[in-house]
Amino acid sequence: MIIANTISQVRDQVRQWRREGLTVGLVPTMGYLHEGHGSLVGKAAEDCDRVVASVFVNPTQFAPGEDLASYPRDFERDCEILEKQGCSMVFHPSVDEMYPDGNGKTDTYIEILNDMPKQLCGRTRPNHFRGVCTVVGKLFNIVLPDKAYFGEKDAQQLAIIRRMVRDLSYGIEIVGCPIVREPDGLAKSSRNIHLKPDERKAAVALYRSLKIAEEMASDGEKSSKTITDAVRAEIEKEPLAEVEYVSAVDSLSMEPVETVGKGTLIAIAVRIGQTRLIDNCVL
Ligand code: AMP
Repeated sequence: MIIANTISQVRDQVRQWRREGLTVGLVPTMGYLHEGHGSLVGKAAEDCDRVVASVFVNPTQFAPGEDLASYPRDFERDCEILEKQGCSMVFHPSVDEMYPDGNGKTDTYIEILNDMPKQLCGRTRPNHFRGVCTVVGKLFNIVLPDKAYFGEKDAQQLAIIRRMVRDLSYGIEIVGCPIVREPDGLAKSSRNIHLKPDERKAAVALYRSLKIAEEMASDGEKSSKTITDAVRAEIEKEPLAEVEYVSAVDSLSMEPVETVGKGTLIAIAVRIGQTRLIDNCVL
């Protein structure tokens, strides 16, 4: 597996592959990889001749006071996981390589101007998706992939990237991949490492609450308020859990819905101690 730290190295290698007629898949990540990331790389390796994964903790998607400095990192371990999954090249740039003005500063952003980035996580993280779109747009311009792979765990991010690709005519196929979970149901996340043992136990409440939503919907419940109230009540049984939001939205537009139906996304964000976790299910 090639380790590239510069944009020009990635461009030269991808140009070479293109000359050989090979297809290229991209998997953007912030590193500290787990089986969730691994599944994206594995799927990309199945679909494409070559796979580029990026490992970059993107400063423009963190607000002051968020966990940019404490975001977990282990590049050596990441490389082992990537290589095992069939990754051809890992792009591991410095902040200055990606943002030449230094300190993660940029004067040019990609921003979706409708309400999609304002819903769900956007309520407490107002500039988060502007940072995500900007870095993903840059990675698309650097790698020029045929396909790019994103997890359904970050359902709002996936919907926003799909919209960005459509609106800016990127011509890249966006592939959504299912959520990979721990045996007890907790969605795998780089941030799970921060959970203390009692918090780790409490964190299963997220998955339990989503199962209740699925059961209610399959029993015929149509009211999104009734379902989200039950989800919230289940999470609030856990004294260590503090709900940030429980929402029922359309999974493509992220618009809140009053009546749930096929394609309704139940999305939750919960703080357990210092750790903010998100999860979701599509009914
Ligand atoms: P991150 O490193 O957290 O930015 O995630 C990089 C990519 O991996 C994103 O597209 C995430 O949605 C995806 N991802 C993270 N956790 C999971 C998971 N448990 N299952 C599937 N995909 C995931």
